[in-house]
Amino acid sequence: MFEDTIAAIATPLARGAISIIRLSGDDAIAIADSLFSGNLSAAKSHTIHYGYIEENQTPVDEVLVSVFRAPRSYTCEDVVEINAHGGPLVTRKILSLLLKNGARMARPGEFTERAFLNGRIDLSQAEAVEDMIDASTDAGSRQAIYSIRGEIRKLLQPLIDSMMDLIANIEVNIDYPEYEDAAEMTAETLLPHSREIIERMDEIIERSKAGMMVQDGIRTVIAGKPNVGKSSLLNALLREDKAIVTDIAGTTRDLVEGRVQIGDFVLNLVDTAGIREGAEKIERIGIEKSRQSIEDADLVLLVLDASRPLDEQDQELLKMTENKRRILILNKKDLAPAFEMVGAVSISALNKDLGGLSEALGHLFTSDQIVWQPRLSNERQLGLLSQARQDMDRAREAMENGIEPDLIEIDLLSAHDHLKEILGEVHREDLLDTLFTNFCLGK
Ligand code: GDP
Repeated sequence: MFEDTIAAIATPLARGAISIIRLSGDDAIAIADSLFSGNLSAAKSHTIHYGYIEENQTPVDEVLVSVFRAPRSYTCEDVVEINAHGGPLVTRKILSLLLKNGARMARPGEFTERAFLNGRIDLSQAEAVEDMIDASTDAGSRQAIYSIRGEIRKLLQPLIDSMMDLIANIEVNIDYPEYEDAAEMTAETLLPHSREIIERMDEIIERSKAGMMVQDGIRTVIAGKPNVGKSSLLNALLREDKAIVTDIAGTTRDLVEGRVQIGDFVLNLVDTAGIREGAEKIERIGIEKSRQSIEDADLVLLVLDASRPLDEQDQELLKMTENKRRILILNKKDLAPAFEMVGAVSISALNKDLGGLSEALGHLFTSDQIVWQPRLSNERQLGLLSQARQDMDRAREAMENGIEPDLIEIDLLSAHDHLKEILGEVHREDLLDTLFTNFCLGK
């Protein structure tokens, strides 16, 4: 499909045991062969060849060359991978020889882009390749491997198919109203199907949002009135004294933001500077000010001082967070308790004893988000599904209002296209370019 043969160094350009230089295209084998001590022209697909890369009969490096013939390769084209000794100098040298012999330098992500454009993988699979490289949590890498295997297509294809069914039925009715075998399509017959599709979309959207949250790290705010031990908890979580802890409220000035792993979960601690600032605000202009950071968070760790009775500020914070995903933390369990609270986690931040915090997280983010369930993996996909959902909603409303099916078709077609765009079957060139340029070179 593509005229030119591309080449790139696929491994980091640093001192290492092995480096890999990759070639893809019609001339990949011929170009590699022109520099190789052995003979690759008759090499079978999926074979490895030992020899030397040579320049004017002088050996440059001792290498292993893998040959993959089209279409059974990463890009669906002829692919050659040269494993060289991993020195930056020799690796660059081999690449420059390949370029001199007819290859063109690949753009970032161009190998994966070719795999997509040549039809081996869909866009969700291409994205997952980069997601795997970038994964920073177990949930992230698990999602990536499932997506690479094509689970997102499996999830969406039934929806795309049932939408196509609806559209096809409407069209038969429009084009051949006299065609007796085609059941007449009325809003009545279309509605149940549409509602079903919307329900299914909602399920996927909800699950994807939750999954993405766990995959990217849970946006977490530590809340509580002054002196309950928020900074101490933050320190215990970060296991290093980044924040200044004193018993005079309102003295922590450092901007501390952190990312901590607790059991299966990664917490992205946000607005940690507001721990003290918020405390001041609570005293000065009232508790309302902490509402925003609490509202924006996926999770609130609400800290209460177990050694003192709950007061008005505690009550207010309890009320403010009652509809949030939250964990109630009774701190200072090393002191005599002033009250008890069912479902709260007792800790001693000072002693870096986090008690059952990790288990509490496990309860809050149920198996749904930990055990893999088919879902979307990024904002692009989620945005498109939400657009499709809106289209379907418009269609449903029109049907409920008795609008003619053929007028509803426009919304159905739009929903259908939005879903296909997730898989890249409908795509905009400029968006594709942006997507692939974020990839690693040689991928
Ligand atoms: P913040 O204002 O909510 O950030 O509270 P700090 O973390 O600054 O703690 C306030 C005071 O409570 C400090 O003197 C801490 O040493 C003390 N403190 C924090 N956690 C504990 C704990 O688990 N046990 C005891 N006994 N004191 C604690």
